Amino acid sequence: MTAYPEGRELKDHVIRFCKENGADIVGFAPVERWDEAGEVPPAFRPRAIFPQARTVIVMAMSMPLPVVETTPSALHKEVYETTNRQLDNLAVELTRYLNRMGQASFPFTRDTYTSMRALREENMAAFGHVTAAKYAGLGTIGMSHCLLTPEFGPQVRFVSVFTAAQIPADQLQPGELCISCGLCASLCPKNAIRPREDGIIGDYDKTACLKMHEELVARRSHPCGVCTKVCPIGKDRLLYKSKSSRKKYVEEKDTLAINPDDPEYQSWTHIRKYGVAHKSGSAVSGKGEKDG
Ligand code: SF4
Ligand code: SF4
Repeated sequence: MTAYPEGRELKDHVIRFCKENGADIVGFAPVERWDEAGEVPPAFRPRAIFPQARTVIVMAMSMPLPVVETTPSALHKEVYETTNRQLDNLAVELTRYLNRMGQASFPFTRDTYTSMRALREENMAAFGHVTAAKYAGLGTIGMSHCLLTPEFGPQVRFVSVFTAAQIPADQLQPGELCISCGLCASLCPKNAIRPREDGIIGDYDKTACLKMHEELVARRSHPCGVCTKVCPIGKDRLLYKSKSSRKKYVEEKDTLAINPDDPEYQSWTHIRKYGVAHKSGSAVSGKGEKDG
């Protein structure tokens, strides 16, 4: 009988597999964390979806900050969707890899909705990767409801695999990463985020955010991601020498209203200008559906 790796050895195998297949960060959450925290309704917890689940493996891929800063743009959309596809592929491949090692597993892919109409009817995912990433120790939830990671702030996408394997858990982040600067709330184009006096996580108007998404889908330049772009958290800002961009973000709208060709924003506005319909009536109407 084949001896398969277990415990720490299996964890090392999984981390190596994920990193070799494009993951930037990987975390492991025991399914009990959903029950202990009690934040997620029972039907949305891993064991309700896949009763054999004992561990949720959460994998993350970063989005390059200078591309996120061009939002809304065709380039941002392409990189966003490519990252989602890569994460989905990784989740399915990891599931097969674990199954081959005798560990029953189950992938939960990224944006699991089929149309904007479906989102209008029920704007809720069957499983939340943000919460999973928090329970896997990858970060903490900020005012914007995005998961902030030490490495990439919110400029990161997640996918999850449920497995019957019991794999050593990662520690939760020791403290909040959100510094309550309020930039996500003040620069949200739909005022969908409202700071709260009694906690880090703001009030979030899902309907207002969905409206923004619908507008951008119609122009094929979704997602919005302004709350992601402006968040100061993440070591990737050092890589991109972008630690002090607050003033640039805050002044962007007014500056471009006066001078759309302002040289400070030239690299963003250049990319936004091409590949996206700008004139009214030229957008593809009635096709507001996201691929996959
Ligand atoms: S994605 Fe855009 S509209 Fe939605 S909350 Fe973030 S900034 Fe606001
Ligand atoms: S922009 Fe500021 S308030 Fe919003 S999530 Fe990031 S750190 Fe928190």
